[in-house]
This record gives sequence, structure tokens and C-alpha cells, in this order.
Amino acid sequence: MASNSSNKLLLFIIIGILSGIFLGGLAPDIGIEVQFLGDLFLKSLFAMVIPLVMSSMIVGVSSLGDVRKLGQLGGRTVAFFMATTAIAVSIGLVLVLVIHPGMPLENHITESSNESMQQVTTRMEDKPTTLIDLLKTILTSMVPENLFAAMANMEILPLIVFSLVFGGVLTTIGEKGLIVIRFFDSINEAIMAIVHLLMWAAPIGIGALIAGRLGEAGGFAGFWPQLQTLGAYAGTVILALLIHGLIILPLALRFLAKKSVMAYAKVMSAPLMTAFSTSSSSATMPLTIENLIEKGKISRRTVSFVVPLGATINMNGTALYEAVAAVYIAQSYGIELGLGETLIILLTATLSAIGAAGIPEAGLVTMVIVLKAVDLPIEGVSLILVIDWFLDRCRTTINVWGDSVGAAVIDRLEGSQEKTESL
Ligand code: ASP
Repeated sequence: MASNSSNKLLLFIIIGILSGIFLGGLAPDIGIEVQFLGDLFLKSLFAMVIPLVMSSMIVGVSSLGDVRKLGQLGGRTVAFFMATTAIAVSIGLVLVLVIHPGMPLENHITESSNESMQQVTTRMEDKPTTLIDLLKTILTSMVPENLFAAMANMEILPLIVFSLVFGGVLTTIGEKGLIVIRFFDSINEAIMAIVHLLMWAAPIGIGALIAGRLGEAGGFAGFWPQLQTLGAYAGTVILALLIHGLIILPLALRFLAKKSVMAYAKVMSAPLMTAFSTSSSSATMPLTIENLIEKGKISRRTVSFVVPLGATINMNGTALYEAVAAVYIAQSYGIELGLGETLIILLTATLSAIGAAGIPEAGLVTMVIVLKAVDLPIEGVSLILVIDWFLDRCRTTINVWGDSVGAAVIDRLEGSQEKTESL
């Protein structure tokens, strides 16, 4: 996209966000009425995810040439993701221990939160509750039982695994494989062209999503008390997210990827605002891929591998949030956590974020693993439920930013920038 039109788009998106905030904040009813425009945008993005992930992974892996390169690329990517997630969790833990936002309460669960709690527990029922269970679930979920069922249910991890194997095998069957690779290459380009068009719907879509959600919260009048009651907790989460997003990740970008932080942030501005408004890394993925390849000049090969994997398993913001929330719950129940327990939180938050899907409020559900690991009451989730919709947006933005920084760093390590054109 030419820089002029991309500046224009950015301006429109900012106008969309501001209009959404004012509309939803001052006229909640109208905000709720326009929500459907946001849902349309969200659905259109989701529709792109499966064909985009599969085609870009298949073409990407078939262009690697040697399967050992996949091992190296995969190893580096996972190592980078794990390291940044662990740093994010550590920042969250230090802040929540220092700020100590949770005060022991007399009566933990109010009637209304009991009701919402039931919804959460229902969602938690089929979730793994121990670390071993979680690892087993992640491993078994990597293999699809039925490809089409996985597509229909938006199970991205098994589709990534299948596409990697499929793309790899295509390179071993000569001419016949080449035809299929070209076929997926064309699908990939066509989907990218649709995503390119969809970007122009982003200002209205993003604005409407924000207006709708703020409207649902009762406008400014309804949101403000929510923020005040949980102000110290929400402030701790947001401060930790900001430190990670504005200091740690930029440092990685500057020194490991040798990129200009401001320029890269500008490239990612539309996807980041989309992440904030949709609360979904998966829905944002098509825009992340499009912007990194078209404007970020990251090689298509790196982006097509790192971004889908990142949107599925790399959640810096979610891991950080789960750790802060768990300690906040402990503080609110007057439970003292020792060093051992704090380390267990660090480990489980890092791993349970991998298990969280890139969809709204998925982190709230996998948080049960962290709570269980250190024997904290699961009902404690009810304390933070009311503000989760807002914090979800903030952490999703950092999740997507983390994926994009990962793509830049891995691309530099792989030294594949020059080879972009060879695809
Ligand atoms: N909504 C987050 C995402 O899509 C996951 C979560 O923390 O709930 O990245």
C-alpha cells in the first residue's frame, strides 16, 4: 500500500476509534445498535483465517527447501516466544508484588458475580486443570482427527501442523507437488488481496466494535465505576503491559532485529488497533500478515510461519495478565504466596497462555490452571470478571505486538530478507 494511502487509512482508523469511544460512551443505546457493523468486520476477518493460515504455511514450508531449516526456524521461533513470555510474566509478577493491589476482603462473591461465575465455570468444565493435563491437551490437540472439523471449529494449531507436513511432502513428489504448491500460492494471493480490501472497512468496523462494547458496559457512566473498583488491579495489569510493550519488545526490535521502533510501530498500527477492538489475535492475524509483508518488508516466508504460530501459541499479554490476576486473587483472599509458589505461577502462566486460543476472553478460562497449580480458589475469578472485557483488549494488543516483533527478530536471524522475492 502506498504510504500516502496508508497514512489516510491510519487517520480514518483513529477517527473511527474516537467516534466509537464517544458514541458508546455518551449514547450507549446507539453504540449497541451499531455493534452489528463491527460484527460484520469481525466475521469477515475470521473468514480469512483458515484459508490464509493453510495456504501461507503450505507455500512457506515448501519454499524452505531443506526440512532441517524448518527445525531451525521452528526452534528459534519457539525459543523467542517462550523467552519474551517469561519476561512478560516476570514483569507482571514484580509489579503485582510491589504494588500489592489486592486487599483482603470480607465477602468475596457478590450475587451478580456469582451469576457470571457460573458462565465461566461452565466454560472451564472441559478445560485441563493441571500442568500435565495441559501439556497432554496441547500435544493431542496438535493432530487433527478430521481436517474439516478442525477448520469448522477454527482449531488453528492442528491445521498448522497438517499444513507443515503437507507442504513438506509436496516438495518431495516432484512436478505433481509443484502444481499443488502453485495452486495454494494463488489462493494465498487472492486471500491477501481480499484482506487488503478489508482494511478499508477497518475504521468503521473498529469504531463500531468499540461503541458496541462500551455501550454494553453502560457507556462512560457504567464503565467508570467498574474501572474505579478494580482500579489498582487494572492499573497494575496495564502498567506491566506497557512496560513490556513499550520497553522490552522495542529493545528486542532495536537490538535483535535492528529495526526502527517507530517505523515498525507505524506498520503495525492498523493490526494493533484491530487487536484492541476485536480482542482476538486470530481475527487480527490476516491484517498482521498483510502489513508485515507489504509494509514491514519482512520476508513472506518468515511471516507465514511465525505469525500464525504466534497468534496461536505466543501470548505475552495473556501470560502476564494471568500471573497478575492469580497473585491479585491470592492477595484478596489474604493468602501469602512463597517464592516456590511464585515460581510455579511464572511457569504455569507461561504455559497456560500457550493453551489459550486467540479469541476473546480465552485467557480467563485457562487461568484456572494457574489458580489450581498453587491451590488458589477458582471462585476468585469472579473478583476480576467485570473488568476482563477491557483488560482482554489491552492484553490482546500486546499479544499481537509480541508476534510481530517475533517475526522481525526471526527474520533477521534467518537472514531471509533478501530472499523475499524468490518465493
Ligand atoms: N483475547 C486474547 C487473544 O486473542 C486471549 C486472551 O487473553 O483471552 O489474544
